[in-house]
Amino acid sequence: MGSPLVLVDVDGVLNPFRKPHRQFRRHRVMPEGRLLRVLLDVRHGRMLLDLAAETGAELVWATYWQDEANEWIGPRIGLPELPFVPLPPFPGIEEGRSFGAWKARHVAAWTGGRPFVWFEDEPDAAASLAAEPGVGDHLLVGVDPVTGLTAEHIEEAAAWLSGR
Ligand SMILES: [Mg+2]
Repeated sequence: MGSPLVLVDVDGVLNPFRKPHRQFRRHRVMPEGRLLRVLLDVRHGRMLLDLAAETGAELVWATYWQDEANEWIGPRIGLPELPFVPLPPFPGIEEGRSFGAWKARHVAAWTGGRPFVWFEDEPDAAASLAAEPGVGDHLLVGVDPVTGLTAEHIEEAAAWLSGR
């Protein structure tokens, strides 16, 4: 079974679509030489580290930033280098899977039956995940990409991890 995982998306979760409140700061980052602007709340790092410490879980990136999140996102909110779910390029909706379903398939494969919580904003990721064969016990905490990750999301994850 292994210890539980806490999977964290970046866009729409740590980097919301709009600035929800003043704690978010704008950062200019350059993953793979592309200039992007991201909004980050430095408190998210501590919230995630506390969640992992209190529940014995391991933090993992589940984002198309993949390893770039360790260079451009983690250090700006106080997170150490984390493992990441490898995500092949999305083949497009014409292949019969939505973006959320594509991501869910690779998350299910990589977690290999381990229990996990996943903070994710793709609306159909939960249903897609449940349909994946061999997926472990999990809780998908759906995040509104307009507001990003909140304390309520963390509490929901903590309650689930503690009650297992
Ligand atoms: Mg996202």
